[in-house]
Amino acid sequence: MNGRVAITGSLSKHIRQLYWLGPPDRSGVASKSHPPHMSSKGCHPTGSCTKPGPEIQSITRRHLTSGGLSTRRKLFEAHHIQDERLQQRLSCKFTEILTMGDHESSKLDHENHLLLDQPLLQLPVELLRKNLRSARFEVEKDGSFVKEILKKTATDSVNGRISQQDVLKTLDSMIARMRGVKRKLTTFSEEENRLHRHEEARVKHLTELYGMYSVDDVKYEGWSRTRLDRLLTDYLLRQGYVKSAHELAKERGIELLVDVDTFEQMNRIRQCLLNGSIQEALAWCTAGDTKKELRKMDSNLEFMLRYQQYIELVRDRAQTKPDEALAHARKYLFPYKETYPKEVLHACGLLSMLPEHAARVEVYRELYAPARWQMLADLFTKTHASLLSLPSIPLLHIALSSGLSALKTPACHSIHPNSAAAPSHHTSLSLATSVCPICSTELNELAHNVPHALHSKSHVEPDLLLLPNGRAYGKARLEEYAKKAALPENQVKDLRTGEVYSVDLLKKVYIS
Ligand SMILES: [Zn+2]
Repeated sequence: MNGRVAITGSLSKHIRQLYWLGPPDRSGVASKSHPPHMSSKGCHPTGSCTKPGPEIQSITRRHLTSGGLSTRRKLFEAHHIQDERLQQRLSCKFTEILTMGDHESSKLDHENHLLLDQPLLQLPVELLRKNLRSARFEVEKDGSFVKEILKKTATDSVNGRISQQDVLKTLDSMIARMRGVKRKLTTFSEEENRLHRHEEARVKHLTELYGMYSVDDVKYEGWSRTRLDRLLTDYLLRQGYVKSAHELAKERGIELLVDVDTFEQMNRIRQCLLNGSIQEALAWCTAGDTKKELRKMDSNLEFMLRYQQYIELVRDRAQTKPDEALAHARKYLFPYKETYPKEVLHACGLLSMLPEHAARVEVYRELYAPARWQMLADLFTKTHASLLSLPSIPLLHIALSSGLSALKTPACHSIHPNSAAAPSHHTSLSLATSVCPICSTELNELAHNVPHALHSKSHVEPDLLLLPNGRAYGKARLEEYAKKAALPENQVKDLRTGEVYSVDLLKKVYIS
């Protein structure tokens, strides 16, 4: 536990160096021109950077619109340039530019800041909906049962088919049943109150940000630290370190801002699947009206769990009754032969294939393989996340990926020795290298696979002009074509439609 917290502490230090997640250490003016030294002895956050999806790219793109970052980008690009004069100029202007960059980027863009925080508010709402649906399910189930019994007892008693004593007995059982419903509803109500408390705390946390207008605000540092702690807790929960996450949330007082209980339950079921037990996941699938919700989502989780049950029955055929596997298949698999024809076909074939002979046939070898448990655990995690509208990857990954992407320059991973993380003896270079977080020992490896957010090479024609018909062409091409068509000097011709327009009607196009 201590080791894990130590790692997260160290990791958080490195992450804070990324401007995206919060301002660098502002312990004084000196730290602005000499950002905190990144210890090479620190932990090496490892992990493969998967190719980011459109979500990350959009975040990166939006973030790049801030002026401060573009100033930093110029600076980071410059530190890889070979020209010595430029390096000297860079060295002289260094503090000035950084201060300028800080000034430009200090304005707080609330909307961009909260891009990652959608699940923070959404999860309690989803859980409230789920809670309400489950409560309604219980009321309807027991309500209709009691109504049926009452109707039957009343009819029987009027017709004299039932003794007075039996009527009393039935009434007692109905009361007991309704007491059960009341007990269940109390639990649902407590859960609802808990979720409301969560939602309230989260709204308050996000509203605090709207009271700040600059990252230089003293309160902002505390706020961004809380957000980082939230991201770290989310990461720990998703990686299965529930106890560490719990401790971290407790220590930082952010229990209402994180979803320990939800992930704890998810991790418990996931672990059961990894240990070869299906019951817990099946119970989750069929509890309340989750089954209905899963069907709406076209989820194959329940089918795959039943399929695995069948495989286990066939595998242990010495222990199970001969008809058991077949009965299971008839009940749970055959009704889905239209939806999952391949799986049902393989299930039939599996009966004739003993585990010891399956090695020869790939399909059956895979069905008997222990790797299926991992597949089921992953499928469960994925289904659980989509049922609760949770992002499938930790928010920390999204934040890190977009932060790394925004700061990465093409030279950061070049083979040029000066761009390596090793400290250089040239003062200007070592200063620049120590500033570039991507060139630091800790983050260099992590940033290896993220794309560059800056594309210096344009694929669009320069000087785009918009014609009144909505088409856009490069100025040079329009002029050339007008010349070829022997048009007067103040006229241009659409390259495709041949329409002729006056130059005054053209508008310049800016791509942002
Ligand atoms: Zn660099």
